[in-house]
Amino acid sequence: MTVNVLVELSNRNIDKTFTYSVPKSLENDIKKGVRVKVPFGKQKLEGYIIDINKPLQDDLKDILEVVDKEIILTDELMNLGLFIKEKTLCTLISAYQTMFPKALKAQNKTNINKAYIKYYELLISKDEIDNIKLNDNGRRIVNEIINGNNTRDSLIKISESSIKTLLSKNIIEEKKKEKYRLDNSKSYNYPKFKLNDEQTNAVNVVMNSDDQVYLLHGITGSGKTEVYIEIIERMLKLNKTAIVLVPEISLTPQMVERFKSRFNDSIAILHSRLSEGEKYDEYRKISNGLVNIVIGARSAIFAPLKNIGIIIIDEEHTTTYKQESNPKYNAIDIAIERAKNHNAKVLLGSATPSLESYSRTIAKKYHLIELNKRANNKDLPEVTIVDMNKEKKKGSYFSKALIDKINEKLSLNEQIILLLNRRGYASFVTCSSCGYVSKCPNCDVTLTYHKSSDMERCHYCGYATKRHEICPECHENSVKNLGVGTEKIEEELNKIFNARVVRMDFDTTSTKGAHEKIITAFKNHEYDILLGTQMIAKGLDFPLVTLVGVINADTSLMIPNFRSSEYTFDLLSQVAGRCGRSEKQGSVIIQTFNPNHYAISLAKTQDYKLFFKNEMMIRRKLNYPPYCYIVSIKVIGNDYDYLKIESNVIANKIRDNLKNSEILGPSIGSIFKVKNEYHFGITIKYKKEDNLYPYLKKLLEYYKTNTKIKLDIDFNPLLW
Ligand code: ADP
Ligand code: ZN
Repeated sequence: MTVNVLVELSNRNIDKTFTYSVPKSLENDIKKGVRVKVPFGKQKLEGYIIDINKPLQDDLKDILEVVDKEIILTDELMNLGLFIKEKTLCTLISAYQTMFPKALKAQNKTNINKAYIKYYELLISKDEIDNIKLNDNGRRIVNEIINGNNTRDSLIKISESSIKTLLSKNIIEEKKKEKYRLDNSKSYNYPKFKLNDEQTNAVNVVMNSDDQVYLLHGITGSGKTEVYIEIIERMLKLNKTAIVLVPEISLTPQMVERFKSRFNDSIAILHSRLSEGEKYDEYRKISNGLVNIVIGARSAIFAPLKNIGIIIIDEEHTTTYKQESNPKYNAIDIAIERAKNHNAKVLLGSATPSLESYSRTIAKKYHLIELNKRANNKDLPEVTIVDMNKEKKKGSYFSKALIDKINEKLSLNEQIILLLNRRGYASFVTCSSCGYVSKCPNCDVTLTYHKSSDMERCHYCGYATKRHEICPECHENSVKNLGVGTEKIEEELNKIFNARVVRMDFDTTSTKGAHEKIITAFKNHEYDILLGTQMIAKGLDFPLVTLVGVINADTSLMIPNFRSSEYTFDLLSQVAGRCGRSEKQGSVIIQTFNPNHYAISLAKTQDYKLFFKNEMMIRRKLNYPPYCYIVSIKVIGNDYDYLKIESNVIANKIRDNLKNSEILGPSIGSIFKVKNEYHFGITIKYKKEDNLYPYLKKLLEYYKTNTKIKLDIDFNPLLW
């Protein structure tokens, strides 16, 4: 017997399977899709069995070990990997590795174990027990076991030595069973609502139409989540299963609570804040068929559920559904592909759909369903836009209107959310006499000053250095902080208001459980003001919040990306939706220096359709998606001169070969140098280009042995 094995190394030069022979002793354990250990040059590697063959060739090396009893790479996932490779031009192994938690990746060195619970069973019948002489503790332990309380963890509290004695006398025996580490015992009771007419219609359309992909466009608070839950309930009745994707950051206890209230423990949860052990356990629950609903962030799209009926992608416009590292897949594409395999449906939901998705409803590729009113019949919050150019007190971070409103809410004992989409203390450190700006030596970006650690930090590579007091250029004592981040605003809030402030951003949520802790504490009204970056804008539901303030709406308008208006509109609509969700009417104050920009002025009425119309006009004029597709190619390396020449060569080759496309560049990327490597960008814009994939494959093939250049191709990039 021989097997074809795809080994763990992701390298274009060995992007193929290697054949090994199987020693007789291991033949019975061989299955397509399990991992094996194999010799590879001087190394020992892990890989997946892709094929099994009968004919025995001579000169082959033996596999060393079979790692799994159960199949990891099912037939469906095996094909899905090929699909990802085809669509993103990644290596096949990287497509497979990205689907699994660490414990199931092909990786020779990892060792993430199952956890077990030890428990005890009686070896003799209950009647006989009475006749045996036991001391008090021994008797208590035996009784506990008879009553079903048999885990070692609880019995050891009675007496460890008595357990030992019982074992040695063969009265009890020790057993172990798999333990799922994520605590699932808590039960919840979020109310179940009678769906309103719009919601009922949405459920019926999805259940009864023949279309495959649906876009649920519903304003914030219109009850989309209830629609998801109802559809899942109906799918389960048909013996089908469901995947729900939510943005990483909104996978909060609040969200999980709503699903658990309805589906108890038939849910597995997958997100990056779980430990690797917990992820492994959740994954096994899925493959062992113990759950029929999976809720998770992007990579949960690969959950090995059988008989999927519905895949729901909440906040479908969110950029985190696109993986930024290789393979650069978009979970929506994977969802649609898996739905084909399972004859399932895909439901995309959003208050502010991506322009691409909404265009597809107009082109009748997606079936549009609308929820136009808030489920609790509350009005949308009243939004005020404050022109910061007109503020009398210059240089203040807070307008008079915002200060007054915060004071009003504090006096009513209501809660406030404040958004500033920039973390740290100051966004620039600059010298006021020579103009020197503190930059990262590895990346071409300015350093952000963090006061709590008194360090200047790079938000790209993590580089950190002590704050400069004296300018390193002109040696004057005139270094100043410019721009403002959440850390600085927190300090200001504490100066101006007598309020309990909690900050939620990347820096305060880096430890496990920190994110949940802040949310729970705020929900319990241990704080009056929640200040944070965009991570507070999504999915949260706090009944006591009646004021949302945006400190500076312009930060996201300034990013060098043709989607900056779209992102700004999304963010403002989302954050405005965080208030007035219960009985009390809410208000929103947006501070900006660009009050007339349509992305900001339209967020006032949350008029998505008008925004869509405006933005589409601009995209058409400039020929940007959805009017074309984009492929972004980065030419990366550390030899600047060589790179400059070669990226020109590449751009010209592409021009010659893709005649139906517009080729931009090579240009110096918005971030030119990252982690000591230079980036040149080439952009391909096309509507229809049959030669695109064949040619890009050729290009990758041509450069795969060139060690001075890396080509990084991103189809439909989002953060660009
Ligand atoms: P979305 O996901 O669209 O933002 P949610 O599903 O979170 O909306 O619903 C918004 C609020 O309205 C929630 O507090 C929810 O409990 C409530 N809600 C949803 N559906 C109904 C309904 N049919 N009747 C009453 N309240 C509802
Ligand atoms: Zn850096």
